Amino acid sequence: MSPEEFDDSRFERSRRQMVEGQLRHRGIADERVLAAMGRVPRHLFVGGPVRWAAYEDEPLPIGSGQTISQPYMVARMTELLELERDSRVLEVGTGSGYQAAVLAEIAGEVWTVERHPELAERARRLLEDLGYHNVHVEQGDGSMGLPRQAPYDAIVVTAASPGVPPSLTDQLVVGGRMVIPVGGQVNQRLRLIRRRPDGLRETDVLGCRFVPLIGAQGHPSAESRRVRVLVEGRVQGVWFRESTREEAERRGVRGWVRNLADGRVEAVFEGEPAGVDALVEWVRRGPERAVVTGVTASSEPPQGERGFRVKG
Ligand code: SAM
Repeated sequence: MSPEEFDDSRFERSRRQMVEGQLRHRGIADERVLAAMGRVPRHLFVGGPVRWAAYEDEPLPIGSGQTISQPYMVARMTELLELERDSRVLEVGTGSGYQAAVLAEIAGEVWTVERHPELAERARRLLEDLGYHNVHVEQGDGSMGLPRQAPYDAIVVTAASPGVPPSLTDQLVVGGRMVIPVGGQVNQRLRLIRRRPDGLRETDVLGCRFVPLIGAQGHPSAESRRVRVLVEGRVQGVWFRESTREEAERRGVRGWVRNLADGRVEAVFEGEPAGVDALVEWVRRGPERAVVTGVTASSEPPQGERGFRVKG
């Protein structure tokens, strides 16, 4: 069936069937979640070619290699958050903006962060057009949360993280809930974390399959670059290592730097290609008192460096 043949009333019918057959029938019991998913026009959040399948029981592509989650997963995650009319919610992984709209139907204020600029922009425009004035879309690395607006009553992460990022649990109020898929490409588990006065309590919910959370507290980016450099000249005793660390941190580049016994400096830079390249260029000059006479740089596979260290 082409999207043209599938008019609004038929979308409405499919949406009702989705709520009853895929959600209520499978145990989603929170009437506010069922009502919200009965209202949000999911077909507007997916592109033309797959619009006809918007209310099917499956995830769908939304561009930039990303997906909109299966309706049941959106409902289950939302239900686990136990939202109230005045809840402040953070979503990590805006994608199409669909889950943000569902959250906004129930909660007071929703902040949602998306790594891909095109997806963030598209979701921002659509949510605005649909009148979701209580959703705020931000572009950036949501694995660090959004400290500016913290604390949150609830946090939902819609991409799979290697672990539970402390930067996110730190942004929950005491009594707050976080839902997050944890794992690698396979073997992911959805976890519910509650922040209690005496610490975090974690519950295993179900097996799932999400795209990876990519960022400082997530998985390393496939686009990330790792370069090993060897620097020759008057490069020791001239603040080379400290200056390199400062320059790396300024550019969000991870890795390390050290002095070699033969008088050279060795460093490894890992991160977004533009930042790594800029740092290699900086090393060719070095800090003020250095005299660099040669630099060799070789690429290697990224290893998931965290932070930037000066080695002894
Ligand atoms: N909730 C979305 C929806 O309703 O359409 C589906 C989200 S999709 C399964 C996961 C999203 O997380 C992708 O759009 C991906 O680009 C995004 N993502 C991955 N790592 C991220 C990060 N560190 N910060 C923000 N977004 C991230």
